Amino acid sequence: MAKYVQDFAEGDKDQKDLLGGKGANLAEMTRLGLPVPPGFTITTTACRSYMQTGLVPAELRVEVTMALRRLEDAVGRQLGDPYDPLLVSVRSGAKFSMPGMMETVLNIGLNDASVKGLAAISEDERFAWDSYRRLIQMFGKTVLDIDGDIFAAALDEKKGARGVVLDTELTADDLHELVDEFKGIILAESGQPFPQHPREQLDMAIVAVFDSWNTERARLYRRKERIPNDLGTAVNVCTMVFGNLGETSGTGVAFTRDPASGKPGQYGDYLVNAQGEDVVAGIRNTLSLADMKQVDPQSYADLMAAMRRLETHYRDLCDVEFTVERGKLWMLQTRVGKRTAPAAFRIACALVDEHLITMDEALVRVTGAQLSQLMFPRFDTTDSSRVLLTKAMAASPGAAVGAAVFDSVEAQRRAAAGEDVVLVRRETNPDDLGGMIASVGILTARGGKTSHAAVVARGMGRTCVVGAENVDVDPVARAFTVGDITVEEGQVISIDGSTGEVFLGAVRVVPSPATTYLEHGLDAALTQADDDQDTRELVRAVDRILTHADHARRLRVEANADTAADAARARSLGAQGVGLCRTEHMFLGDRRVLIERVILAKTDAERQLALDALLPLQRADFAALLAEMDGLPTTIRLIDPPLHEFLPDYTDLSVKVALEKERGALDPHDEELLAAVKRMHEANPMLGLRGVRLGLVIPGLFALQIRAICEAAAARLAAGGSPRPEIMVPLVGSVQELHLVRDEALRIMADVAAESGAELDIPVGCMIELPRAALTAGRIADAAQFFSFGTNDLTQTTWGFSRDDVEGAFFAEYTENGVLAVSPFETIDTRGVGRLVSIAVAEGRAARPGMPMGVCGEHGGDPESIRFFHNVGLDYVSCSPFRVPVARLEAGRAAI
Ligand code: PEP
Ligand code: MG
Repeated sequence: MAKYVQDFAEGDKDQKDLLGGKGANLAEMTRLGLPVPPGFTITTTACRSYMQTGLVPAELRVEVTMALRRLEDAVGRQLGDPYDPLLVSVRSGAKFSMPGMMETVLNIGLNDASVKGLAAISEDERFAWDSYRRLIQMFGKTVLDIDGDIFAAALDEKKGARGVVLDTELTADDLHELVDEFKGIILAESGQPFPQHPREQLDMAIVAVFDSWNTERARLYRRKERIPNDLGTAVNVCTMVFGNLGETSGTGVAFTRDPASGKPGQYGDYLVNAQGEDVVAGIRNTLSLADMKQVDPQSYADLMAAMRRLETHYRDLCDVEFTVERGKLWMLQTRVGKRTAPAAFRIACALVDEHLITMDEALVRVTGAQLSQLMFPRFDTTDSSRVLLTKAMAASPGAAVGAAVFDSVEAQRRAAAGEDVVLVRRETNPDDLGGMIASVGILTARGGKTSHAAVVARGMGRTCVVGAENVDVDPVARAFTVGDITVEEGQVISIDGSTGEVFLGAVRVVPSPATTYLEHGLDAALTQADDDQDTRELVRAVDRILTHADHARRLRVEANADTAADAARARSLGAQGVGLCRTEHMFLGDRRVLIERVILAKTDAERQLALDALLPLQRADFAALLAEMDGLPTTIRLIDPPLHEFLPDYTDLSVKVALEKERGALDPHDEELLAAVKRMHEANPMLGLRGVRLGLVIPGLFALQIRAICEAAAARLAAGGSPRPEIMVPLVGSVQELHLVRDEALRIMADVAAESGAELDIPVGCMIELPRAALTAGRIADAAQFFSFGTNDLTQTTWGFSRDDVEGAFFAEYTENGVLAVSPFETIDTRGVGRLVSIAVAEGRAARPGMPMGVCGEHGGDPESIRFFHNVGLDYVSCSPFRVPVARLEAGRAAI
């Protein structure tokens, strides 16, 4: 016979799949000998069977009968007995907690007869009728699906008629009348009378809990939390105990340590003469546990002992729900408790100090997401002057306050004058880079988490909010509107890159001690913390855990850094190299004209001239980068994006030229530029002339960069440094492409070595960012000394999702309807994109054993993805400088 029911006394905490979280923990507490009211759990297997067939399995009825008889024998009472009734609660409890999502029915077993028995036994008539009233109300609402407001209105009406305010002021007679009225509501609304038979009540409540698994809101919650739909819920049937039997009774919730700060010491709330739902409803002020000690010292002592027992057993912060019935403590629920990010770090270290867990376990108890929460400065949520304008996509965390500006030039002008600015654009393009650098934050109306604005902002550690669709940006009027509020240039706004919120005016910012620690070390953070003990404890805990992560991890952590300044920041945060330097950013600003000349050149000689002018500039860029990263690998990627990105916008330029023509003042340069823009226009530039293709089609371009790298390295060697540049070729799809570039690189390397007398052995490798590259990695490894997975483009080309468009366009709907649990641009799609990575790792290493491999797409800084990269055997992850500490932590966790 399938096992559908298990007594609390039979199970344990490791049976969450079968018993749900609540059931497993009730079983564990029972095993520990803690005072749990006896009961049993109907397993998730029963729920799954019901969901599949739409029928309650016949065996379940039989097993419930047997369990009920065992329960009745244990407590010496029978369900619904008219003289001394056993009452039970029926509660849902899935494997993963889904707070408030599912159903509970209390006081099952009461009917017109047993209510009198309860009144006699408890010597409290009011209590008995109130319990019956609650049963009918909950049953009507949750089992029979009757609108709860109808019952609430009847209750209010009764209080009004009696001239009282609180439920507790109603008398036994009032409640008796209410019971009759509630029964009338049930009959009128459902067409059937309130079931008097206790077993019928129980069976109907069990089915209602099963059904609650599939309500719309429960499904929505699961989609959001990525909980599988087919798990089903367990149902816990538990002997009722009452906290509302007078002044020696009560109910409460407690934590074994403070879940907000992590401070040691129990912490909780207690409500005298009340039931659990009253605590949540907040109808009366609760007492602290210290107050409870005064009111009921024995129950308090029992509770403390039980909590200590639980914490010792679970070796973690636990929260509990408990009830005291006439001086006797009952434990109704426990679980490993939720906690804030600071509490997570502090508690983990405290438990190590108390010899309850090891440092390895402490590391697993905290997450990269929690560390990043600690790192970003935040807006002061107690600032009551905040005016929320809108909430959009949180693209790069932080709290930025500055004057709204609408173009790069203005951003730079104001920033140069010392003003903090927030750049507001419909969307950004490489042209905006100067403005983005000058701004403290970036807000765009369009685009998703991997849009240009988002990627660049994350790279620079700029706060960024994207895809604010109801922000109507008018760059000409230099203003944006949200609803009927208009924000003009120069007006201050505040954007929260952790929540996506945009506020009018300046919101107060609170600095983060964890960031001080990460950038400047423990002493600096302790100095900043001054005598704030909580903060001191926190930074010490972060230090201990991160140090342990660094010892534990196998993955190296490098950074995506385009400038010497970024590299320095990354290095201070613990980066062990630069895994990706995107050189295209070096061709912007003043240098654009030089690139324009390369593009417009009519002859090889003209082009060479323009390239020659770029050479010293590039050499200086690389020299600065190599100096900053001295001794550490520095992977420089040859130019990647299509060249038209360096030219003016086609429409803008067409308008300009048309106007010039109309005025009879045509600038021949503009006309020439327009022709070039037209010539280079591509319908699908991301799939067009970019990356290695560009290098092979525009003569001299890659050669210029390779020479600059070689010369910078030679100069650095001559100066006694230890440069470790690596040359990376983007967007390779065929090994032939790489052979061509590699041959050229080796030629130039030999030339520069001969010219300078330096010994140059610069590795040449490539990005794996096209499915074909992944699938032919074995062949590509012939020509590549290393691989770096460009998972941004690999995701784009594997899914066929345009990385710049889809997030704003339809990802919201795709996550809503469950096609995507999370954006594949954020967390690696292990089944598809990840499979390509696995194939490439295996085939690349088979062809070239020990070949170094890493990842430099955005996923390199994503906790879940880092675990995958560890498991698939990569050597390093490379991520934005600000993600480096998170990646260090997660790489450590992945290795445990
Ligand atoms: C990638 O495609 O993952 C990558 C790192 O390159 P980029 O984002 O510059 O295209
Ligand atoms: Mg790429």
